[in-house]
Amino acid sequence: MKSDDFDLKADLQYGAEPGVNSFRNNRMVIFNAKSMGLLRQQLIETLGVEEARKTLFRFGFQSGYSDFLSIDKNYDFDTPEELLKAGPKIHTDKGLVKVETHEMEYDKEESIFHFDGSWHNSYEAEQHIIYNGEADVPVCWSLTGYASAWCSGFSEIPVLAMESKCEGMGDEHCEWSVKPIDEWGEEAEPYINAIMDFFKGDKLMEYYSYMEEQQGLEGKIELAKETNLPETRASTAVDSKENIRMFREAIEEILGKQPPKL
Ligand SMILES: [Zn+2]
Repeated sequence: MKSDDFDLKADLQYGAEPGVNSFRNNRMVIFNAKSMGLLRQQLIETLGVEEARKTLFRFGFQSGYSDFLSIDKNYDFDTPEELLKAGPKIHTDKGLVKVETHEMEYDKEESIFHFDGSWHNSYEAEQHIIYNGEADVPVCWSLTGYASAWCSGFSEIPVLAMESKCEGMGDEHCEWSVKPIDEWGEEAEPYINAIMDFFKGDKLMEYYSYMEEQQGLEGKIELAKETNLPETRASTAVDSKENIRMFREAIEEILGKQPPKL
């Protein structure tokens, strides 16, 4: 299939169970953009800009990573290029941003990856401006996290998306490019730190290369457990009960203690 044939609307199961919408066994939820904007703003005010940016980048990264795993596993694209372009398509279908892609170049053997394009109607820039006015720096942190994760999954090396223009800065549209982390300068360090912290460097690559071998979900879960990555364990849960158990374990590991009972 082509990336343009991918249609989230057609494959999203509204009411898969009462109160549950699902996409390929992943529960999907819909929030009013204003409520996401409020949550985002409270992160900025509570944690400060730097930590809020890292948290939102990780949030976007998890979303892009989960989508890549799900779509890579469940769809058969004609070419690798069509799989790569399915990322911008689902990002657009989710109503987060309209993605236009420009140049792309990749060679997995040579660890070459370059991809760039533009974003229009970024919900994140819109919400940032509502609360803070125009920024001096790009603000689509969860969107760049999403693009970084999708492209890292595809290229099997850690790559990072950064914006050179952003609607949140008053630009007409956002412009982004994705390339290997060692090709960015010091402006990328906070984002790179967020990625390395999230996936603990080469463990991510080990996980991706295992996926490439397509040894099945059971095997992937075992490896995710072995590599001790809470996020990958949670991403590979087989059903909702298993999902809840894995996420509780992941939260316990991240917090270093049991999640509080309320
Ligand atoms: Zn932007």
